[in-house]
Amino acid sequence: AVESSIPEHMREAWRKYSPSGFTTKDQFETEIVRHIETTLARSLFNCDELAAYSGTALAFRDRLIMDWNKTQQRQTFADQKRIYYLSLEFLMGRALDNAMLNVGLKNVAKEGLADLGFRIEDVINQEHDAALGNGGLGRLAACFLDSMASLNYPAWGYGLRYRYGIFKQEIENGYQVEIPDYWLDFNPWEFARHDVTVDVQFYGWVNKYTDDEGKQIVSWQDGEIVTAVAYDVPVPGYGTPTVNNLRLWSSKASSGEFDFSKFNSGEYESAVADQQRAETISAVLYPNDNLERGKELRLKQQYFWCAASLFDIVRRFKKTNRKWSEFPDQVAIQLNDTHPTLAVVELQRILVDKEGLEWQTAWDIVTKTFSYTNHTVLPEALEKWSVPLIQNLLPRHLQIIYEINLSFLQTVERRFPKDRELLGRVSLIEESQPKTVRMAYLAIVGSHKVNGVAELHSDLIKTTIFKDFVRIYGPDKFINVTNGITPRRWLHQANPRLSELIASKLGSYEFLKDLTLLNKLEPFVDDKEFKKEWAEIKYANKVRLAQHILKTTGVSVNPKALFDVQVKRIHEYKRQQLNVFGVIHRYLAIKSLSSEERKKLAPRVTIFGGKAAPGYWMAKTIIHLINKVGEVINNDPDVGDLLKVIFLEDYNVSKAEIIIPASDISEHISTAGTEASGTSNMKFVLNGGLIIGTLDGANIEITREIGEQNVFLFGNLSEDVEDLRHNHFYGDYQVDPELQKVFDLIKSGKFGDEGSFGALIGAITEHGDYYLVSDDFNSYTKTQDLIDETFKNQDEWVTKCITSVARMGFFTSDRCINEYADTIWNIEPLDVAEEKQVRART
Ligand code: PLP
Repeated sequence: AVESSIPEHMREAWRKYSPSGFTTKDQFETEIVRHIETTLARSLFNCDELAAYSGTALAFRDRLIMDWNKTQQRQTFADQKRIYYLSLEFLMGRALDNAMLNVGLKNVAKEGLADLGFRIEDVINQEHDAALGNGGLGRLAACFLDSMASLNYPAWGYGLRYRYGIFKQEIENGYQVEIPDYWLDFNPWEFARHDVTVDVQFYGWVNKYTDDEGKQIVSWQDGEIVTAVAYDVPVPGYGTPTVNNLRLWSSKASSGEFDFSKFNSGEYESAVADQQRAETISAVLYPNDNLERGKELRLKQQYFWCAASLFDIVRRFKKTNRKWSEFPDQVAIQLNDTHPTLAVVELQRILVDKEGLEWQTAWDIVTKTFSYTNHTVLPEALEKWSVPLIQNLLPRHLQIIYEINLSFLQTVERRFPKDRELLGRVSLIEESQPKTVRMAYLAIVGSHKVNGVAELHSDLIKTTIFKDFVRIYGPDKFINVTNGITPRRWLHQANPRLSELIASKLGSYEFLKDLTLLNKLEPFVDDKEFKKEWAEIKYANKVRLAQHILKTTGVSVNPKALFDVQVKRIHEYKRQQLNVFGVIHRYLAIKSLSSEERKKLAPRVTIFGGKAAPGYWMAKTIIHLINKVGEVINNDPDVGDLLKVIFLEDYNVSKAEIIIPASDISEHISTAGTEASGTSNMKFVLNGGLIIGTLDGANIEITREIGEQNVFLFGNLSEDVEDLRHNHFYGDYQVDPELQKVFDLIKSGKFGDEGSFGALIGAITEHGDYYLVSDDFNSYTKTQDLIDETFKNQDEWVTKCITSVARMGFFTSDRCINEYADTIWNIEPLDVAEEKQVRART
């Protein structure tokens, strides 16, 4: 037992008074009123929806934290291997609804809140999103946390507690404007652990000497110290007592560092400035998706977070009094992209410099512990850190990186003695000006497994960016784990009526724990009543989105129209420009028809949403064009309901939960070979929407699962992309004539100052059309025509939707986590059967 624990003979009283948590409506009401009147110091005379939200959140938090405590105890006593998921982003969204559903008490809360005068939907809507991520990568981390808890794996997430999450987006005159997202005013979901702190060092110099006993000592001295403070966020599993932990680090000036001499000599401002500089480290999330910029503060964030997390993990391991050789039997660390790669170097530093292990013994432990997930092949997204920058900020780490490199290159040289070029190609150091450290290579060398996130992507990394490493390590080190999504949030929470309908047919909600059970829906495709209900639910979801559109944009859309949605980060490779050019093409087509002919058309609402990185000018131009095109088309009386173009501001997780269930068609139209996986494609199909997509990322596997007849595929294949690009410069290249008409209309000034859009068009007509917009345009618009035709037959459409949902079982993130656990982490879930029985009795 730990020294500070209560002596055995006094534990009876403790157990007697330990709270058991509410289960009934009356108990819930007691809790919520108590919190509102005491914790929040409000009363029934000034209780608004925000206070009702706060009280409800606190009541649920109490419940979670009791389960959290028990989970942590259980995991400590079980003494099994744990998985630590290191991610610089966790795009969690809201927590309350998820907590209510996961502990199975949403109905209790609904009735309790109604008794107290509130509608549960209004209360849920008070919550601020926890938006500590940019897009897919961060949301994947959040889905993984949900699955790890739901499957009872002993798992921790480690990240940064940014004071400002991804910026809030507003649209002014068609342009994106960024507003800071300060989200911590009231955050009941975190626990500040002021007693869990780690001092993290930066700068300074390295002193190497031999001590009296002849031992080599390496000491990193005179640096600046910043303190990391732990904030813990409970992560409840679905239908299980497991509540895991997400630990986020916040930076503050080290108390030892506060310069009292400055303070006493009247330099108060300077002393405070030091304080603020320390706090800057965890102040803000970098808002770039798939783009690295090499800023020093970003490197500081990375090391701060890696050092604090590693210290914490090592501290926990040391409590077990095991030998160091057993570290990889107790600890698995997953690197979500290369952002946490310094953790590899940090563990080697701890083992060699602090714990005195031999270099090679330490390195064996390191490589058995880490594994790395690659998320992109886009060159602009691959991290490279300048050597002088690392030298200055982390002098000891740079030495270690050089030593790792030396020993790695020696091994390569022994295996391939005649291939000098290979050494240059795979070196962790790029001989550029200045030299840089290739973080992906460091992550590969420091890990025992490397995975891509969809089959095509995992094949591509093996044949392109990591080809040489496959030669060196053999193919088994490189594996695929296709991404997945949690059906709890992305079906049950976002689309409760569909979830209920499915449960009514399958006999229970068991499919939320085993998504492959959805295949039992397939026989119901012939059930008329079922199909009718299915269609009604989609329609109701579209009505809800139409109301949101009206409220936020002032544009009224017809919920009977085909809703065509593209929501994701705005990026040239994701090709929102292809979509908006397609919209203009459609507009031209409508204008050319007689009013009789127009009656035969299928009305459509094209909906966009997504943020552009603040410095990504081309992406911002795309947003501007979408908004300008919307202004013209939505106000053209000739067009009416036949076409509406909407840009929804500030796309985030809670908006996704409204948008995704309301889509008929969603667009996943990246240039083949550029999107690693995509996960929103899975969310849309799981919610009974069809997709139009290229043969890219997980679209390929979605197609394989649900059948080619249920997907609208178009465009060139990834194997042809290189030749096509080459041809743009050296072949007989002409822009697609229909696309040229679109450009002509833009250039005529129809959508405002044509100069604004010159670069967007120029990228295609003058600069080699890197993303193959023109090559794919014809195939894209023809496929859109096919969608129109297919949508006219609603019965056939609904059949496709139901069949697709029935075949989506593979894409649950539970499957991913089990794959990671079996093939990479080698960890087992904890048995919670006994805990469940105890709960059932109480
Ligand atoms: N951003 C948000 C807010 C999301 O919820 C998602 C969900 O999938 C994504 C980005 C990722 O979208 P995609 O897979 O289309 O890039």
